[in-house]
Amino acid sequence: MTEKLFSDIEYNYKTIEERISEAAVKSGRNREDITFLAATKTVDAEVINYAISLGLKYIGENKVQELLSKYDEYDLDNSSLQFIGHLQTNKVRQIVDKVDLIQSVDSVKLAKEISKQSAKNNLTSDILIEVNIGEEESKSGVKAEKLYELLDEIKNFENISVKGLMCIPPICDSPQKILKFFDKMNNIFIDIKGKNIDNISMDILSMGMSADYYEAIISGATMVRVGSSLFGAREYK
Ligand SMILES: *Cc1c(COP(=O)(O)O)cnc(C)c1O
Repeated sequence: MTEKLFSDIEYNYKTIEERISEAAVKSGRNREDITFLAATKTVDAEVINYAISLGLKYIGENKVQELLSKYDEYDLDNSSLQFIGHLQTNKVRQIVDKVDLIQSVDSVKLAKEISKQSAKNNLTSDILIEVNIGEEESKSGVKAEKLYELLDEIKNFENISVKGLMCIPPICDSPQKILKFFDKMNNIFIDIKGKNIDNISMDILSMGMSADYYEAIISGATMVRVGSSLFGAREYK
């Protein structure tokens, strides 16, 4: 069983790598310009580490409890651990010293707490701002129209460093529809970059998942977050 799973993952990993390379070139960039992060929710540490042994360099969890339960087992000598899920303010202190990037900051309150807990640990945390690009009520993320206001309020927080933007667009039934959201994100990303705001850099545009990472790269993503296309359908325990 495990052998079959590992050989599937090896095949999937190669396939995703090839498609990322192809999309990078198609968008006028190189493979190295795109970060391939594996979304590892529900996946056992042993399986994650197998993907790391294939060359995977970035892993992302989206629940604090799950991250902590696997933390001692991840091969972090060979990979970078990030947080990609909705983060509650009261859980920040549990992960702030364990992750290299928090991708899901969408409020002043959360940014302030990350800065405060980072200061306690003598570190500066890299963060992305999550944008609710589809303006869906049910989703986290700051609305595009409130983005500049948020950046303005957090840019002087001492122990955080804004590195870019992240989004999870609405589920779309066609590539054309999803492209509209990705393009909108890329335009915002470029717009902010052009403003050269102090302490705000726009290096990372994190968008695209299993179904649409190719399209996301074409639209300017610098990081894709892929789960089920790599590990197979998720089994929630
Ligand atoms: C699960 C998850 C992904 C990956 O989803 P897949 O469709 O399985 O590739 C990407 N980003 C976030 C924030 C996730 O929670």
